[in-house]
Amino acid sequence: MKHASNPMQKAHAAPRCTATSKRSGLPCKNPAVKGWSVCRMHGVGGGHGSGKANPAYKHGMRTREAQEMRKAVTEHVRISRQLERMIDDI
Ligand SMILES: [Zn+2]
Repeated sequence: MKHASNPMQKAHAAPRCTATSKRSGLPCKNPAVKGWSVCRMHGVGGGHGSGKANPAYKHGMRTREAQEMRKAVTEHVRISRQLERMIDDI
């Protein structure tokens, strides 16, 4: 039975892999990975994107940048306290 809105239509219309088969010499024809010109078998490594592109992203406070920022602030506070102690000793 054919439906007017086939849910697989979008999948079939997806861009195809541009790689050529080593054995047959024919084009791969697998769906290309989003944002790439090749399929998952032809060179696109696994893994998620970083930052907001990562599916585990929630509020941004645990991103690499945020953690580096916190580390820098902590270091500044540590140095400030050290200086304060040095001034008190004088
Ligand atoms: Zn391929």
